[in-house]
Amino acid sequence: MALRLTFLGTGTSVGVPQIGCTCPTCTSDDPRDRRRRTGLYVQTPGMAFVVDAPPEFRIACLELKVLDVRACLLTHVHMDHIAGFDDLRRFNTLNGKTVLPCYASPETIDAMHRIFPYIGTKPNELGLYRPMIEFHRATRAFHLGDVRVTPLPVVHGNTPTYGYLFEHDGKRVAYVSDCYDIPPKTLAKMRGADVAVLDCLRDTRPHPTHLTLDRALAYMDEIAPRRGYFVHMCHDVKHAEFEARLPRRIRLTYDGMKIRV
Ligand SMILES: [Zn+2]
Ligand SMILES: [Zn+2]
Ligand SMILES: [Zn+2]
Repeated sequence: MALRLTFLGTGTSVGVPQIGCTCPTCTSDDPRDRRRRTGLYVQTPGMAFVVDAPPEFRIACLELKVLDVRACLLTHVHMDHIAGFDDLRRFNTLNGKTVLPCYASPETIDAMHRIFPYIGTKPNELGLYRPMIEFHRATRAFHLGDVRVTPLPVVHGNTPTYGYLFEHDGKRVAYVSDCYDIPPKTLAKMRGADVAVLDCLRDTRPHPTHLTLDRALAYMDEIAPRRGYFVHMCHDVKHAEFEARLPRRIRLTYDGMKIRV
């Protein structure tokens, strides 16, 4: 009765390698140093959904054989999390031409309507291949099949941003891919999670909207998960070297990584 996580992508907004960069990470032979933009696939015996639809969403679905998506959650409207949203239309078709529910904050939904004005809940009149999405404003905990989902508001610059807590069969997973500050109320919900996935852009050099190593480790101490994972890394993070410096209970994610909880 496990909760299974598959990382569709684990990189920061420009991806790794960056276009035109010849640094040791961008030219590394280690497949873990190739990072698509960040997204997550969650499966339980009774549910299957994605968190975000990054630019390489289609490629990730093909490579990782993601064939069952019954809902989508959005963290926020930065392009590295929504640029692949249109590709969700394949799951309308695969699910028998049904509307796909998408959960996000009210602010994120308003922005999605501006960015994707053609997306609605009805088939296109001309028979064109458009996504059919029903947006649901997530402001409190709700159920997606056998998963209880709680939005986790975090601070990520001026863009309203959520992480999410997933609860299934007594297990708790906290997922926060983009954040600079975690408000106390959110932190309280994450505390003692079986698995916590947290933003860690790079080493300790500060960034105005993302956690970097020292702050990410400090939050991990407060959350005290059974297992901790970092995500959303930039090219400053060379997987093998960076991970070797982490406490044993905290690991770096990589594209295609699977975790059973
Ligand atoms: Zn991001
Ligand atoms: Zn580089
Ligand atoms: Zn962002």
